[in-house]
Amino acid sequence: MPRVLRPSLFKPSVFSAFWGGSVLGGWLLVAFALANVASSSLSHAGPPLAMTAFLLVVLELRPLVQGRGHDPQGVVMSTAFACAMLFMWGRWPAILVVAIASITSDLRARKELWKVLFNVGQYSLSVAAASLVIDAVGLVPTLDHPLRAVTGRDLPWMIAVWIVYFLVNDLLVSGALSWIDSFWANLQDDFVHYAITTFSVLALSPLVVLVAQSAWILLPLLLIPLLLVYRTAQMSLEKEHQAGHDPLTGLPNRTRLQAALAAVLTKSRRDGTSFGLLLIDLDHFKEVNDTLGHHVGDQLLIHFAERLTASVREDDTVARLGGDEFAVIVPNADHESVLSVAERIRSSLLDPVALEGMMFEIEASIGVAMHPHHGDKLDDLLRLADVAMYVAKESRSGVATYSARRDRNSANRLGLLGELRQALDDGDLELHYQPKLSLHDSSLLGVEALIRWDHPQRGFVPPDEFIPLAERSGIMHLLTDHVITMALAQLAAWRDIGLHVPVAVNVSVTDLVGHRLINLVGDGLRAHGLPPGMFQLEITERIVSSDADDLNAVLNKLHEMGVTLSLDDFGTGYSSLLRLQSLPVDELKIDRAFVSPLTEKLNQASVKEACGIVRAAIDLAHALGLPAIAEGVETAEEWDILRSLGCDGAQGWHIAAPMPADKATKWLRDCSVRNAVVEATRVVESA
Ligand code: C2E
Ligand code: MG
Ligand code: MG
Repeated sequence: MPRVLRPSLFKPSVFSAFWGGSVLGGWLLVAFALANVASSSLSHAGPPLAMTAFLLVVLELRPLVQGRGHDPQGVVMSTAFACAMLFMWGRWPAILVVAIASITSDLRARKELWKVLFNVGQYSLSVAAASLVIDAVGLVPTLDHPLRAVTGRDLPWMIAVWIVYFLVNDLLVSGALSWIDSFWANLQDDFVHYAITTFSVLALSPLVVLVAQSAWILLPLLLIPLLLVYRTAQMSLEKEHQAGHDPLTGLPNRTRLQAALAAVLTKSRRDGTSFGLLLIDLDHFKEVNDTLGHHVGDQLLIHFAERLTASVREDDTVARLGGDEFAVIVPNADHESVLSVAERIRSSLLDPVALEGMMFEIEASIGVAMHPHHGDKLDDLLRLADVAMYVAKESRSGVATYSARRDRNSANRLGLLGELRQALDDGDLELHYQPKLSLHDSSLLGVEALIRWDHPQRGFVPPDEFIPLAERSGIMHLLTDHVITMALAQLAAWRDIGLHVPVAVNVSVTDLVGHRLINLVGDGLRAHGLPPGMFQLEITERIVSSDADDLNAVLNKLHEMGVTLSLDDFGTGYSSLLRLQSLPVDELKIDRAFVSPLTEKLNQASVKEACGIVRAAIDLAHALGLPAIAEGVETAEEWDILRSLGCDGAQGWHIAAPMPADKATKWLRDCSVRNAVVEATRVVESA
């Protein structure tokens, strides 16, 4: 189904009948009006005519009330003057001046020609129809014989003129809009509100006549109350706009999107057409925001909003749902057209954005849901587009259309979240412990506690799968509380049997907000009577790359308490040297992504490169006065290379995999026996 952008002017339809009829009839009237006015003497009407006509044209430029749904013209204050001209000098001068005013304002607004032509026709016909009422009461005002002085007794026929004018005008507009919506729907759309505003403007016309007849020079004074009314209307429109729009990008907000979606849905159901809903989420936006600050993030959002708006059509609704999430409604379109809109949006992002002297590539993931194919309800469509967006994001495909098969994944994820809560309540999560050894003398540096969830049905669920879920859904603190409580209890248990092993626990960015973590660790250490130096927190480099003051405050406080801090996954974040230097960390853990390439057999050059990178990381740690620990050491060869590169410690399967508490206890005992033997041998040798 091709997307209708502009109605076909000549194909038979309700629209073309109204459009053609209005243009033909209306412009014929304008031609008559021109001939009539040209052949009349203007001397009788004189300055009052000039002043009234001038004010009419000026006021036409200011719409008083935005039109209904799609009617861009709205109610204009000039209508009062048009009606007054009709009363005083009959239909021809009124039609001519109204036509001039309409053309002037339409050209100023750069309207398309077919709309300009129609508007002139519509006004001319409405004025002409209303003038028949004046004929019917036997008054024949003309330029040569203007209307006699008005009295209160003229009001009834004047009201009849207003009614005819309003009805004819409304019928013509509704007919012309029938290419967008049905004739009846247009006619009913906001009818009462539209009638009230039109009549309140028309009601001023007798006053215009009175002033023009008695003191035409005072006519401009009528503008004052009119402009006041205009300003009030404008202010209420602005308020309405603010309530429905996002202040940063100026785009409609979620509420407005839902209203637009409801309207498109109703129309689509009635006409049996389809439409698409796109949900768009920027990729890596959080990192930009966290690393470079909200100011840069905001600028990026504004740029994105501009590109988004520029790449869709006028009748598509673009909205910002919040954060880095946007939506587009593509009305009256099939799946193929909707996908082409999505592609157009993506290609509009190809050029990088220059911000604060840096170039940014904006990437976005787009989820597509189609009505009625995927759903027939507003909430369903929003949810399905959201599911599709997650699929696009996860598969890095850029654009994904909703599919029920994929949806099971997201339902699955939601289910997993519920089960995680339950597992936390039931204490079904346990900790495994993985040792870290010194690369200098193989002594034990400590153990890292890693969470394990052995799900009764799903089996082992890796932490990388449920931790991001916990972070996003706000239950991370429950998980961290649980982990820290268990780790401290284990630390105390080992101490009680003479094993003095420092224990490290991983924390997430959400844990580092506020005082919760500080209190939890402090209270726990006190309760067990443990020295703070035995407890370590691992924080991944990605979360410290942002320069947040609160984050620093929490880390400093923990450090002051004597808890040691380890910078985890080093090399995967974007911390500056300055930032690293300002952090109160005690150890740097080189991410395992840098360790495994050390021994890749295939390519000698890349091994050399990998060694260079790891050495640089170790040197950097040393320059900062910190020991470097390598993660993911799987082989003796890696162990040896790391040792030769000057690395201080290692953790990985080569030493031991993460073990449940009982196995870890046994391992640690053996290790301490081994260490004791080594120590004893050293003592004997040195003696
Ligand atoms: P991490 O802190 O970098 O933990 C090291 C990960 O490497 C662990 O994965 C560990 O099992 C794995 N690993 C250890 N030795 C080797 C090896 O020789 N080769 C390979 N290929 N992998 C090895 P795991 O347990 O799946 O944990 C993944 C991540 O989940 C952790 O990365 C950590 O960021 C997070 N995590 C685990 N437990 C917790 C927790 O209690 N709280 C929080 N916030 N995050 C946790
Ligand atoms: Mg870790
Ligand atoms: Mg790590």
